[in-house]
Amino acid sequence: MTCRVCSHINEYTATHCANCGNSLLVTGSNKKNENKKAGMFAAIQGRDDAEKVAKDCGNGFFAVAAIQGVIGAFIAPSLIFDAVIYALCGYFVRFKHSRVAAVILLLVSGAALIATVMNKMGQNVGGGNNIILAVIVVIATVRAVEATFKLNGRYKESSAATENI
Ligand SMILES: [Zn+2]
Repeated sequence: MTCRVCSHINEYTATHCANCGNSLLVTGSNKKNENKKAGMFAAIQGRDDAEKVAKDCGNGFFAVAAIQGVIGAFIAPSLIFDAVIYALCGYFVRFKHSRVAAVILLLVSGAALIATVMNKMGQNVGGGNNIILAVIVVIATVRAVEATFKLNGRYKESSAATENI
């Protein structure tokens, strides 16, 4: 049986690699990989997952910033402020894995969601009117917070971690 880690060829009945000690039983680690691809709601199970979530959320925030910017330019100027925050924090989440940026996004998107709910209930407090978009953004920011905290904590790179904020 060939070891997946070091390619050492072991006896057929071996359960662990004679060279590096890696488990030759297929079940455990392969199952984990199958669960990985479920996108936005999958558990963040490692540095790769966390980096992917940070990247996806960052891209999402750029899209939200663009939408808010356009709406802001034509309909509701107050949204331009939000657009700038989403773009800036999206950048820091995506490229710097910044926890601070993720938390700011959570606060801004939470406030936006509350404003949207109030708009829906007839109190015009300004801001967006699309409650589904607001909820999606809040979910994305929660994911971004989780990802950035894990990237700076449990899954911190052993070297070259200095640029993480
Ligand atoms: Zn091995």
